[in-house]
Amino acid sequence: MKTIALVAHDAKKDDMVAWVRRHRDRLAQATLCGTGTTGGLVAETTGLPVERMKSGPFGGDAQLGARIAEAGLDALIFFTDPLSSLPHDVDVKSLLRLAVLYDIPLAMSPSTADLVLAGLLPD
Ligand code: PGA
Repeated sequence: MKTIALVAHDAKKDDMVAWVRRHRDRLAQATLCGTGTTGGLVAETTGLPVERMKSGPFGGDAQLGARIAEAGLDALIFFTDPLSSLPHDVDVKSLLRLAVLYDIPLAMSPSTADLVLAGLLPD
């Protein structure tokens, strides 16, 4: 079972919900986890089970980074907001850095996430 982490900044949460809805059947074959608010929203709107970390700014990004370091994640879908700076930017950078360091498939936009998911869970 592949484990996929979902994180979306506030301006991108609708995009995340739309992306998960579009891939609901395929994602149902994976174990999902995510930062608190994103995970809660995805679970609520799609009915898929999502393990929720703390909210991103309250340590959720750091918890996902730790998962990567412990080899517990197969992909990170991280829709960042390109139009605003965030108070927890250091956590965001740390999570991205660990995803690259451990060579975890990382998607930061829906179109890239489509490709990552197709590669991770082929038909
Ligand atoms: P959230 O965290 O899902 O709890 O909003 C996302 C983030 O800001 O990293």
